[in-house]
Amino acid sequence: MSRSLIDSARKTLSDIEASGTFKRERLIYSPQSAIIRTRDTGGHEQEVLNLCANNYLGLADNPRLIETAKAALDSHGFGMASVRFICGTQDLHRRLEERTAAFLRTEDAIVFPSCFDANGGVFEALLGKEDAVISDSLNHASIIDGIRLSKAQRFRYANNDMADLEQQLIEAKDCRHRLIVTDGVFSMDGIIADLPAICDLAEKHDALVMVDDCHATGFMGERGAGTAEMLGVEGRVHILTGTYGKALGGASGGYVAAASPIVDLLRQKARPYLFSNAVAPAICAAAIEAISIAEQATDARRRLHDNAGRFRAGMSAAGFTLIEGQHPIVPVMVGDAAKAAQLADTMLRHGVYVIAFSYPVVPEGKARIRTQMSAAHTPEQVGRAVAAFTQAGMEHGIIG
Ligand SMILES: *Cc1c(COP(=O)(O)O)cnc(C)c1O
Repeated sequence: MSRSLIDSARKTLSDIEASGTFKRERLIYSPQSAIIRTRDTGGHEQEVLNLCANNYLGLADNPRLIETAKAALDSHGFGMASVRFICGTQDLHRRLEERTAAFLRTEDAIVFPSCFDANGGVFEALLGKEDAVISDSLNHASIIDGIRLSKAQRFRYANNDMADLEQQLIEAKDCRHRLIVTDGVFSMDGIIADLPAICDLAEKHDALVMVDDCHATGFMGERGAGTAEMLGVEGRVHILTGTYGKALGGASGGYVAAASPIVDLLRQKARPYLFSNAVAPAICAAAIEAISIAEQATDARRRLHDNAGRFRAGMSAAGFTLIEGQHPIVPVMVGDAAKAAQLADTMLRHGVYVIAFSYPVVPEGKARIRTQMSAAHTPEQVGRAVAAFTQAGMEHGIIG
């Protein structure tokens, strides 16, 4: 019995390998940063420019966050050894929730071990079989899984397609509650959800709006409060989910920010909250500090968006096809999966670390290198990345 499972695992692994989608993890020997230390195939240490972290504000190795986390280790200990409702809630957990709600201008917030868990728990706790959840077809895996775990009726609309969303709202009209859910930013494309139109449709059809802002919190919008702020619909979005594991220091933890009764109900019923250990105190303390830094990070946000603009302009001028947009996720389109993988390998030889994405993560024939800019990158580094792409792109016949 166990033998046959091991055999079939081996077979599946070789199928994955044969299809060219086997994921190998590169070891990094330095903190996460603009420049990271890794090793080449010969085992020699090399320093490479990193274009694939979600380290948008460059806080992953921020000295103030490291100091704050160290101080919290001394004052609050290493771990909680308990879920929140038994004996796992410290003042730090509650302060992080209050800080998050104040930053996002919601009544309250609740911290989960990750945003994957926040999305995994939110639907089942809030919706029943009389209700409908209407989900963008490109939403993150955690939203898809969270919806699967709930008893709500499921409706799906084509990515950012408002006519289709309205059609689904009409089909769901007899349901008790209708919840529209979308990523604020679609992570493979760097495209921003059409929140003003979504909010208009929600109001027209008496629906609620939930936005997962993992790729926006901290750096999109004037205050860094995310896509709702950027697009002028703060207060019209009812449920926000997000992560402390990307721009806000990049450690771990996720949240749901919403009206108090929604947060209170999640505290009673959300299973990833009830049955998983509390986030470590040092991470909570540093996340509070990360929000304070992000609130004041006007300069870092400007650097980030300048870098994205500079990279987009340089790459377009070099002849690459990008997905147009205004987000620091900049997809460099290649098409063929094998070619995208080869381009990434060549880039590493040129000292720039990038990752190729292909089917099934993106549609077939739409393989790409997804680059991500950071406020930690210097203009010189962005120029170096464009030069490396230009050289590698010519080597592979991707540009002329
Ligand atoms: C990264 C991401 C998540 C998961 O966040 P974690 O806190 O790392 O679990 C959820 N949703 C979206 C849209 C994401 O990009």
